[in-house]
Amino acid sequence: MTVPEYFGCKVFDDRQMRARLSAKVYASMKETIDEGKKLDLSVANAVAQAMCAWAVENGATHFTHWFQPMTGITAEKHDGFISPAPNGGVIMEFSGKELIQGEPDASSFPSGGLRATFEARGYTAWDPTSYAFIKENTLCIPTAFCSYGGEALDKKTPLLRSMEALNTQAMRILRLFGNKDVKRVITCVGPEQEYFLVDREMYLKRKDLVYTGRTLFGAMPPKGQELDDHYFGAIKPRVQAYMEDLNKELWQLGILAKTEHNEVAPAQHELAPIYTTTNVATDHNQLTMEIMKKVARKHGLACLLHEKPFAGVNGSGKHNNWSMATNTGVNLLSPGDTPYENAQFLLFLAAVIQAVDDYQGLLRMSVAAAGNDHRLGANEAPPAVISMFLGDELNAVLEAIENDAPYAGVEKKRIRLGADVLPRFNRDTTDRNRTSPFAFTGNKFEFRMVGSSNSIACANVMINAAVAESLRQFADALESTENFDGCLHDLIRDTVRAHKRIIFNGNGYDDAWIREATEERGLLNLRTTPDALRPLLEEKNIRMLTAHKVYTESELRSRYEIQLENYVRTVRIEAVTMVDMGRKDILPAVMAYGSDLALSIERKKTVGGGIPYGYESRLAGRLSLLADSIDQAVDRLDAAVKELDALTDYVAAGDFTRDSILPKMAELRAACDEAETLTAASYWPFPTYGDLLFGV
Ligand code: ADP
Ligand code: MG
Repeated sequence: MTVPEYFGCKVFDDRQMRARLSAKVYASMKETIDEGKKLDLSVANAVAQAMCAWAVENGATHFTHWFQPMTGITAEKHDGFISPAPNGGVIMEFSGKELIQGEPDASSFPSGGLRATFEARGYTAWDPTSYAFIKENTLCIPTAFCSYGGEALDKKTPLLRSMEALNTQAMRILRLFGNKDVKRVITCVGPEQEYFLVDREMYLKRKDLVYTGRTLFGAMPPKGQELDDHYFGAIKPRVQAYMEDLNKELWQLGILAKTEHNEVAPAQHELAPIYTTTNVATDHNQLTMEIMKKVARKHGLACLLHEKPFAGVNGSGKHNNWSMATNTGVNLLSPGDTPYENAQFLLFLAAVIQAVDDYQGLLRMSVAAAGNDHRLGANEAPPAVISMFLGDELNAVLEAIENDAPYAGVEKKRIRLGADVLPRFNRDTTDRNRTSPFAFTGNKFEFRMVGSSNSIACANVMINAAVAESLRQFADALESTENFDGCLHDLIRDTVRAHKRIIFNGNGYDDAWIREATEERGLLNLRTTPDALRPLLEEKNIRMLTAHKVYTESELRSRYEIQLENYVRTVRIEAVTMVDMGRKDILPAVMAYGSDLALSIERKKTVGGGIPYGYESRLAGRLSLLADSIDQAVDRLDAAVKELDALTDYVAAGDFTRDSILPKMAELRAACDEAETLTAASYWPFPTYGDLLFGV
């Protein structure tokens, strides 16, 4: 079968709806999907019936409400379609009620105190804007997940609310520019997913990879990524076979997997889909991560989605390419052909600049997780300080507007917004600044801080909400003015003046920049998760997010608690794994090698004749000292974990994890990695960095 023949064959998409629903039902379904209209039960019943028939024809036996609780992964609980028939057989049944709402027993999902234990049930509600699909033998219905009080317990609900907030405010702006045709403004995202592939046999031999997704020990191999020979290099046959299989699975699920290439580090790769509506892109990215792991297993590989699987080697992120578009297909971050379109473009651009500056704390918060701390603020791209890159051309335009100065691009005269046409910004001339956390790349912004294993939901919630807030302020000003053009011009100029500190076009890795950013520009530098989560509790941020009905205050507080606890638990598992590997694998290996060295010394001594044994005894001495350090470091870490467990306050636990557990893990690791370099390869208890990185 060709790709167009099987693309989306496991999705109840528009083609299926058009073919299987009556014209009337199809029309109301379309209105719900495109315009957010409410759906009545008779329509839901008809859709459920058609969906069930289609799913059963395609081999499905079960259905599930598929949702994204705060665990960061997806959840599903399968129910059969079967229903007894009077003749002793069964019929396959699915009702509108079952489609619209489900009640998973949700007491084990994190709620951060939102759901009292006596009210353990949550409910799931169908999101008709994301198509249902078949995975294995189950019809999966994308749903939101809430408590009975209506509080969001998931990542989708706030995302949908943030898209609504942005739509509301962006529509006000478009109306002010005289646009009457557009019905909706949506945000679009294309997430570029980085990942590592390692051999599965080797993976299974490492408890750290199995339990934590990253290596907690490992000395650098003689060759790392210094030759840059992996980036865009030829793809090895085994990886090629994996990618082909992966694409096929993703295409069947209607996921527009488009580009694939090797990344900077050995064994590192990237997959990028074609961008789509943020909501769907988020669902698709969750599915993509799941399928990546599943297909890897089939190929004898393990797919590592952790942000930093290997110390000293490039980590993995997820570049979140974000833009706003109208339902008529116009990208609002694209400069237009008429002066008014240009002014409108600059206004939307200014809205993003103001949003990123005003809510940098929330953006940083949105990507905070234990794994991502090893990238952001460590010696790796991008830094923990948020700044924006706009490119030379656009920068020159904004500078001219800011200073009311002539701009070379428009016949060397002063730009009057609403009167002058700007040059088109060619995507290819916006030189790429790879170090910028938030870069304009021609007609979209690329937010590069998202971690490879993170859901992209939270990042987009914060971007959408912050931009909605800028647009609200702009719309308030423009709606109440008599002089639209003058007000527009001043708004853009004043926004650039007030927020230009967030714009930085230089090298984001540079230490000098971090100093300038924090000391001179007053930008935030939140390097660890406990610090990065605090913006969630700040008055100004709570006010903005609740005003746009993206979160309630109690939802925000619960998210702070859930994510901080998640940080502590993640690091705790790592610490305990290290203690285990230190005691049960590494120390015995070092010991075994040491006693063989001692045996050799003994033998030479008994044979006599003055055979020298200096090598053995020097090495045995060094290893013995190292074994002592390892043993002590293991004990200290173990004791610290016990201290952590005794803490009842989660904020204190977060700080203790960062300040006591992580440094003790680093000490233990340093001693073990040194021991690895001295121990004979045949004694080392698990595959090394060299084995893992070059073993596929
Ligand atoms: P790269 O950044 O690797 O050079 P591209 O810029 O072509 O690659 O695309 C990266 C991602 O950005 C892709 O997922 C692509 O679909 C997405 N993208 C392209 N245009 C837009 C847009 N207007 N809005 C959102 N995402 C976009
Ligand atoms: Mg990119």
